[in-house]
Amino acid sequence: MKHLSIKARVTLWYTTFMLIFMAVAVFCLLLLSSRISQRHAREILSNVVTDAVRDVHFRYGELDTEDMDFYRDGVSIFIYDTSGYLLAPQINLGIQADSVLQDQVIRRVRTGGTQQMIYDLYAIQSGTPFWVRGVISLAEADLAFASIRYLVLLGMPLFILLAALGGFAVTRRAFVPVVQIVEAAEQINTGTDLSRRIPEGQRKDELSRLSRAINQMLSRLQESFDRERRFTSDVSHELRTPLSVIRSQCEYALSPESDCAQREEALGSILRNTRRMTDMVSQLLLLSRGENGTFQPNLTQVDLSRLISMTVMDLEPAAESAKLTVETEIQSDVSLSCDETLMSRLITNLLTNAIRYNRPGGRIQVSLKMTEVSNRESREGGMSQEQKADQEQHGAIPAAVIQVSDTGIGIPKEKLPKIWDRFYRADSSRSSEGTGLGLSMVRWIAQVHGGWVQAESTEGHGSVFTVYIPF
Ligand code: ADP
Repeated sequence: MKHLSIKARVTLWYTTFMLIFMAVAVFCLLLLSSRISQRHAREILSNVVTDAVRDVHFRYGELDTEDMDFYRDGVSIFIYDTSGYLLAPQINLGIQADSVLQDQVIRRVRTGGTQQMIYDLYAIQSGTPFWVRGVISLAEADLAFASIRYLVLLGMPLFILLAALGGFAVTRRAFVPVVQIVEAAEQINTGTDLSRRIPEGQRKDELSRLSRAINQMLSRLQESFDRERRFTSDVSHELRTPLSVIRSQCEYALSPESDCAQREEALGSILRNTRRMTDMVSQLLLLSRGENGTFQPNLTQVDLSRLISMTVMDLEPAAESAKLTVETEIQSDVSLSCDETLMSRLITNLLTNAIRYNRPGGRIQVSLKMTEVSNRESREGGMSQEQKADQEQHGAIPAAVIQVSDTGIGIPKEKLPKIWDRFYRADSSRSSEGTGLGLSMVRWIAQVHGGWVQAESTEGHGSVFTVYIPF
């Protein structure tokens, strides 16, 4: 039984069940109807014989048969004298009955291959004793039963065979998605093709729900595998450059030809590249902790106005050396619950980019305001479902809006959607300066605080980065 498929087991089980059920049902039905028809025959027989006794008349010791009816309701009537001699009817109707007369006993006898039921009554009429016998043939009922029995015996296996075949076909059809699931799973297992999907079909049963759920799971798995693969190759690619610089600088510094100044220069380069690597690794660590869901922001009430002003002040020397002017429009006393370190990093990243991708003599504007976020802004940004629901209910939601704009090189339109990806750099000429992780961090930090980001840019004219942090 264990080596049978589920389809075969299901079919076998219900076929056996049906066979037993039908056999018991047919047996009970036949037994019951045989009992009922026998009882019916008994009743008719005893009634007809009792009536016949009343119709018997003797005149001067002779039986008067004039008004007598010897065949009623399928019962043949015979009248005997006390010695068992048949008095009437004179014509034998072809029904043989056994000769032993027994008073008031209904019994079955077989005469000439036919089943009969016999009932005898002893009576006295006008001083003359006599016997009346009633005989009813059971041949008709027996024939009907025999026909039913044959019909059932022949029909039942046929019916069960059809039911088993039909059931097997239905079960097999129902199991098609399971077979497809198994095949897909086996193919994914043996190969590395995560793009395979199970056909979902139009059905709405449990198996199509299972197919859908497995397909969703496969999509997520594929997405995560692809991300991991991309991540590994990106990281190794990004680390290779500073590592090879460090290595060549080490070799250069250790060579006997290098003098003290050259060694100092090499060490400076090693230090810069090590810092870059450290920065990259710590940002990556933070991002991956965020993606794993293991990161918990340290939320405190932060004076955002002050935090932004301080960060601008910290970066002003760098802006000045790049010959840039920084203008601020910071609404005072904007305070919200956030992770101060992360928020400071967000602002630093945006400002660093505004400096890095600017042009000498350019401008940077930093603003902070508290506002209600309108429909348009939220649609363009990436509001969460709850925020959307909240906005639908209340029209707009309050948020702190941080904006950093510059008059720099801008970003080509087709590259704009990709700037949030890890390691993506729109401008390869300045690639050595950054890690390609800054904007991924900005977006992640905004999301950690339930917010979202938005970038607008015109190539050659400048960019505007807006961060929405709802209260
Ligand atoms: P990076 O470390 O290279 O700056 P980011 O993730 O911060 O990495 O930015 C990704 C890319 O987006 C940058 O390489 C740059 O091409 C583009 N970019 C970001 N900010 C600006 C900006 N203010 N002006 C123009 N281009 C920008």
